Amino acid sequence: MEIRIGMVGAGQIGEDHVRRITEKISGARVTAVASRSRGPAERVAALCGARVEPDVQSLLRAEDVDAVILASPSERHEEQVLWALEAGKPVFCEKPLAITAAGCRRIVQAEVACGKRMVQVGFMRRYDRGYRQLKQAVESGTWGKPLMIHCAHRNIAPHGHFTTEMSVTQTAIHEIDVTRWLLGEDYETVQVRFPRQTANADASVLRDPQIMMFQTRGGVCIDLEVSVNCRYGYDIQCEVVCENGVLRMPDPSGLLVRAEAKRYTALETDWVLRFLDAYDLELQEWVEDLQAGHLRGPSSWDGYAAAVTADALLRAQKSGQIEPVSLETCPDIYRSL
Ligand code: NAP
Repeated sequence: MEIRIGMVGAGQIGEDHVRRITEKISGARVTAVASRSRGPAERVAALCGARVEPDVQSLLRAEDVDAVILASPSERHEEQVLWALEAGKPVFCEKPLAITAAGCRRIVQAEVACGKRMVQVGFMRRYDRGYRQLKQAVESGTWGKPLMIHCAHRNIAPHGHFTTEMSVTQTAIHEIDVTRWLLGEDYETVQVRFPRQTANADASVLRDPQIMMFQTRGGVCIDLEVSVNCRYGYDIQCEVVCENGVLRMPDPSGLLVRAEAKRYTALETDWVLRFLDAYDLELQEWVEDLQAGHLRGPSSWDGYAAAVTADALLRAQKSGQIEPVSLETCPDIYRSL
């Protein structure tokens, strides 16, 4: 069965997803696009032969829309996910699920009332080959239990206005989800430390770099360096220290150049290129899961857990203290982390 998709939001990632579905994904096509302004919606719709709907509500009512993708601004996600649930349409929501933990909780409640999973959140790192290899290795138990994880998330420079808080909500949010998924464990506490400030950022709006620390309920300690002005490349690192061995996520493969008395491999310069394959696989598996009638990807509960953890990190940035991460009881429909 072909899945007919309605795309909400004709900006950067909305256009990327439309191209992806049209050119790479099998089993689905985009039939309708709705965005805030008509011009971009028409341009994106023309890429895939879809029509433009005047607003999100009419897109959700359309008979030839089986499921929707939300690539609208984060502030709009909560109401639009709730509308999709009311319309009985499965929804893939770009991260974040909502901009507050309370908003995520309202979505969880509405989905639980539907009696089955309808929502998937765009935490695409779970689809990256390297992270999947790491998870498989951790779960095999071959090297004993995981004890620590060392991560780094480095960006060349932010696009536009970027604040100390955004290092949590825009940047660390990916590690918040992916290390929880890697370990299959929730966090108990978090903490933030600020090393010496880089001269590449104005400390009055952005403290950079930051060290964020997490401890899971099972005792695993995770340290995450977030540097959003590292200047040299987009560099994502993850190393899991187990009892009897250390598992390091492979860097994406690249040409090794030996020249001018140097040996080097180029790094990606942004997340679009670094996680290109993960974005493709994320949507392909979502489509296949819709066809099978059973969603397995990142859930509303994962979106909620990430939001609660992000809130705790924001408190920790201000307090300098170890802050608790307090989740409510996980409803049954989400019980497979
Ligand atoms: P963007 O370029 O600003 O695009 C947002 C689009 O939504 C614009 O076309 C905008 O139209 C439209 N829009 C605004 N209000 C709307 C409404 N009420 N209903 C429908 N459409 C509306 O932003 P983006 O970079 O694509 O990001 C979109 C979302 O994806 C964000 O939540 C972001 O966090 C997420 N994202 C996730 C990843 C990831 O790694 N998973 C990466 C990038 C972005 P106008 O231009 O007319 O305002």
